Amino acid sequence: METIFSKIINKEIPSDIYYEDKVVIAIMDINPVHEGHFLVIPKEYSKNLKDIDDKVFKYLLFKAKQLAKKKIKELNVSGFQLIINNGKESGQEVMHTHVHIIPSEK
Ligand code: AMP
Repeated sequence: METIFSKIINKEIPSDIYYEDKVVIAIMDINPVHEGHFLVIPKEYSKNLKDIDDKVFKYLLFKAKQLAKKKIKELNVSGFQLIINNGKESGQEVMHTHVHIIPSEK
């Protein structure tokens, strides 16, 4: 399944990469709702949590937590939201699993 995120993963289109390893890529959101808003995306294709592999999901959440803590330290803010939209009806626009990390203050 070809999505904007698979093109980013394959470096066919540019993105502001925050972190990358064999399993995931983290990029800064192009339309941030708060400074430091980024996305963690598994490289293996799944649409959302309804079809993601369990091992990939565990690693995705582990990395999202680790990177969120790093980002809020960098920004010197106190908290963050971790959001995963699943399906059009929940607001999912890009049909490739991704975690939103949104730093928040106080
Ligand atoms: P969702 O509504 O959960 O599917 O969120 C998709 C997110 O992807 C939105 O926050 C968009 O701003 C973001 N987005 C879409 N295209 C890009 C892109 N090329 N680079 C970075 N973020 C993107």
